[in-house]
Amino acid sequence: MVVGSTMSLPMIADHGSESMKEKYLPDAYAGKTLFCFAITEATAGTNTIRINSIATEKGGRYFLNGSKTFITSADESDYALVVARTQPHTTVKRKTDGFTLFIVDMKTKGVSMTPLEMGVVLPEQQFQLFFDEVELTEDDVIGSIDKGFDILF
Ligand SMILES: Cc1cc2nc3c(=O)[nH]c(=O)nc-3n(C[C@H](O)[C@H](O)[C@H](O)COP(=O)(O)OP(=O)(O)OC[C@H]3O[C@@H](n4cnc5c(N)ncnc54)[C@H](O)[C@@H]3O)c2cc1C
Repeated sequence: MVVGSTMSLPMIADHGSESMKEKYLPDAYAGKTLFCFAITEATAGTNTIRINSIATEKGGRYFLNGSKTFITSADESDYALVVARTQPHTTVKRKTDGFTLFIVDMKTKGVSMTPLEMGVVLPEQQFQLFFDEVELTEDDVIGSIDKGFDILF
């Protein structure tokens, strides 16, 4: 199994809705679909608290904007588990509030990527991922809005 699926599938299995589990897990565990895991940003590696990718709610839908870096096998992936903010870190009471985990279909309008030169030979390629007004709904959320940090760590 690719590293992104290894990271993502347990979170869906443990915290996803029943319909989400039915939709994603059988094919993913059978190796028919692949996930990448997207948390790292250019200015937020170990320091996840400072991620800036943000999904803003408008009329019951969420619009994701931002970018991720070092994302392994993004080109081969059907879906990304994206760690985003739904509230900026500057406005939350606790630094760990306001994180939401979204499943993003890589074919969604507004998702793009560029390969990264890593300087070493690796079996899998890393990418920078970009999100430009990527439209999502609550059905794409693992767990609850604003409560993703507890699932992550
Ligand atoms: C081959 C490869 C594949 C990757 N694949 C993915 C992927 O699929 N998805 C994804 O989201 N990310 C991926 N990453 C990114 C990876 O998870 C990050 O590199 C990692 O989180 C560290 O972030 P950073 O490189 O920005 O380092 P930084 O956060 O800048 O840290 C640099 C160093 O400083 C140390 N450090 C940082 N803060 C402290 C502190 N307070 N006290 C002491 N030491 C500290 C760290 O341990 C580290 O050794 C990949 C990276 C590589 C190299």
